[in-house]
Amino acid sequence: MQRYFANKVNKNIILGDGDVHHLLHVMRAKKGDEIEAVADNKLYACIIDSLTPLVIKVNYEIPTDSELNEDVTLFFALAKGEKIDFVVQKATELGANKIVLLKTERCVVKFDDKTLKHKLERFEKIAKEASEQSHRLKIPEIMGVVDLKNIPSELLSDINLVAYEKEAGSTDSLFNNVNKGKSVSIMIGPEGGFSEEEVNLLTSKYNFRRVSLGKRILRTETAAVYALSVIGALLEK
Ligand code: SAH
Repeated sequence: MQRYFANKVNKNIILGDGDVHHLLHVMRAKKGDEIEAVADNKLYACIIDSLTPLVIKVNYEIPTDSELNEDVTLFFALAKGEKIDFVVQKATELGANKIVLLKTERCVVKFDDKTLKHKLERFEKIAKEASEQSHRLKIPEIMGVVDLKNIPSELLSDINLVAYEKEAGSTDSLFNNVNKGKSVSIMIGPEGGFSEEEVNLLTSKYNFRRVSLGKRILRTETAAVYALSVIGALLEK
């Protein structure tokens, strides 16, 4: 069944403009059709009460459990081409709650303010569609760009991990640092990796712990997907 993220006002469901268009012109909805809507992190079975004006009524709440039990934040260094699009989509499917775009020493990509605004809108759209597709109750927040040297403390989690390529080896460090009951952040570096100074700053200033993602060096987008997959599996064990 078609599912939309929406607002709920009393028993009425209010869709955004793009979703109204999708419902009426792509799905060709009729009066009496049923849809599902997610509002305030809850899933509702709804019915289309009228088309002009569009009135959608909540029928009942559908109990559902599709979120990780802990908040997971991905810090992802600005990467080239469509890599960020890919990572936003996959991180959303894998249950991340926040995606923080990160500027590091070796990031070659730079966005001016105007480009960043457009990019963020695009990433938010990708996250919304991925949340709908993966039946989530939340759309991850996308933030940034944050400088590694100046990370606002409210973005940090109970446990903060940096995937450091020079730690490549046993994955014990990752397994031992993800615990139920604790929110977790994972930071992934750019194509050129982190400098030693950056990793030292992360560990001394913000209490990040270095972790390995196995013996092989992964591309930045693979590293993000790998780390979030393992974290999700550990939290849902
Ligand atoms: N150019 C670097 C690799 C960068 S990989 C080099 O050749 O050493 C991009 C990012 O992915 C890294 O900064 C790190 O965050 C992560 N990463 C990739 N493989 C990893 C591994 N085996 N262990 C830990 N982190 C890894």
